[in-house]
Amino acid sequence: MSDSQRRDLAKCAIDEGRVPARLPDDTFGGRGTGRPCAVCRLPISPEEADLLVHVPRVGRAKAVVFHVHGSCAAAWRIEVAALAQAS
Ligand SMILES: [Zn+2]
Repeated sequence: MSDSQRRDLAKCAIDEGRVPARLPDDTFGGRGTGRPCAVCRLPISPEEADLLVHVPRVGRAKAVVFHVHGSCAAAWRIEVAALAQAS
């Protein structure tokens, strides 16, 4: 998958509310366990980096915790930064 495809998926995941348009306060790296990625929805295999992402509560927006591929987390961060600049 190309970087731009992954960024499209990240944008879509934000639009659909699967991941927030806010940056995390913490990420925890590990190995995949076959859980689905919140960005691309593909399972995160043990050969891939699995990031547990924690985004804190802000105002009425709840705290969220989700799993993503390391590369999907990078694409998501880029999209969040792009949205922040656009607004
Ligand atoms: Zn992914």
